Amino acid sequence: MKAVLDHVGIAVRDLGAALAFYRDALGLEIEAPEEVATQRVRAHFIHAGESALELLEATAADSPIARYVDKRGPGLHHITLRVDDLAAALDQLKARGAKLIDDQPRPGAEGSLVAFIHPVSAHGVLVELKQAATHAPAARPSEPAPVRATRYALGDLELVSLHDGFFRLDGGGIFGIVPQPLWAPKAPPDSRNRVLLAMRPLVVRGVRTMLIDAGIGGKEADDARFNDLYAVDRSRNLDDTLAEAGLAPDDIDIVLASHLHLDHAGGFTVRDGSGRIRPRFPRARYVVRRGEWEDAMHPNARSRGSYLSNDLQALADAGVLELVSDDQTVMPGVRVRRTGGHTMHHQIAWIESAGRHAVFPADLLPTTAHLPDAWILGFDLYPMDTLAAKAAFAKEAEARDALVFLTHDPHVTAGRIVTDEGKRRFVPQLT
Ligand SMILES: [Zn+2]
Ligand SMILES: [Zn+2]
Repeated sequence: MKAVLDHVGIAVRDLGAALAFYRDALGLEIEAPEEVATQRVRAHFIHAGESALELLEATAADSPIARYVDKRGPGLHHITLRVDDLAAALDQLKARGAKLIDDQPRPGAEGSLVAFIHPVSAHGVLVELKQAATHAPAARPSEPAPVRATRYALGDLELVSLHDGFFRLDGGGIFGIVPQPLWAPKAPPDSRNRVLLAMRPLVVRGVRTMLIDAGIGGKEADDARFNDLYAVDRSRNLDDTLAEAGLAPDDIDIVLASHLHLDHAGGFTVRDGSGRIRPRFPRARYVVRRGEWEDAMHPNARSRGSYLSNDLQALADAGVLELVSDDQTVMPGVRVRRTGGHTMHHQIAWIESAGRHAVFPADLLPTTAHLPDAWILGFDLYPMDTLAAKAAFAKEAEARDALVFLTHDPHVTAGRIVTDEGKRRFVPQLT
């Protein structure tokens, strides 16, 4: 495994006195502090070249840092090594019999994922392993998450986040009225001002097997203009991740559309050997909101570029289409709800099993950067409806402790929405 020294953690008793030394006497630059609620600690990072120092201040008497300082006094607490794939690193350590404090990654400071190794295995040093931040800070953009199938259990259901690769859209279209200096640190644009987006359809396995959305698909693979415009990267795609999930196209009983934009419904169809477009999932019925279908088949000047009407006609011709008009249960445990906003009939899927909840908000919350109220896709046809629907959705997701699947975030597959002091945060969950 490749690991680089990320930082050295120092437990402090008196933050003011510590700052008087590290900031004032040494003249080092200190970042704004960050709360790590799960550890009841406040972390103050100090830049030191490629690495950093981290001053750790307890925020409650039962914090592990408070106990450490009470027992041994302030001083060196841990070292942190940064790895690319924390889950793989933990597997490797377990296989070698290392004693771990955390055998699963958990949320750390600055949006990272962390796990601690016990000092008995690390020769007296507490070692923290860290996987880079999920929100890329301007200076340290993190690589997109790998294209793979990720499984989650939800009561009696299995949820598998699939992946259809990446594409890019203009930053203005992604962030609407938010000025570029505010969004660029969260989503660094390329030289053509385009922002990287993932496409993650979701499989729900219960009494039936359902696929929600299907990515952009491969029918435009030879269309140079299309690929240049959208920088489509499907070197690994839905076929690969379906296979990883142990599924063949024949296994899908229901395909559910959040809406019919090309990055969600392009993958509903394939081109066969004779060049004809046909349904990609031959046994499935395709459940689509009636209003969305009509808008997609009769687009206007503004919406036309977002739909592939020929593809959709192929579904109608094959007789696999099931148009629904109301919010309803599409299979046991999965209920659709119209949100509007992005398109007039955009819908999301709420999933429930054994009292546990998950939700696929599609383009109502495409990435973690879209959590704040005003961060709304410039593409949205009815942004004021998005504003209201997103606030209600976030409140409900938090109240239900729902696992939220992000269809377009290049770094984060799923996690939970939490509110701290009136500000929404996203806490990623690995599996
Ligand atoms: Zn869309
Ligand atoms: Zn989309």
